Amino acid sequence: MKATYSKSSFSISGIVCNTLGHDYAISRKITNHINEYKCTKCGKEVTDNFAGRVENLTLKTKQVNSSLALFFEKKMRRKYAIPYEKISM
Ligand SMILES: [Zn+2]
Repeated sequence: MKATYSKSSFSISGIVCNTLGHDYAISRKITNHINEYKCTKCGKEVTDNFAGRVENLTLKTKQVNSSLALFFEKKMRRKYAIPYEKISM
């Protein structure tokens, strides 16, 4: 009799999520309106997209989010013109 606890506990969390829904927490903030989320139970990752809908976080959407975060950061910095010296004071 060989117990495979790690395997069975993984599928149990999957069943819990399928039954009760995922318990998403923000894992990364991209813009004011777009975030990446990770399920605290099973680790599934999703993200908001331009259309305001939630989609699976894939390598492609991660890359899109990274360039979007960079663009958004630059835009914000230019808008408020925050000098680096003042931040690090
Ligand atoms: Zn889940």
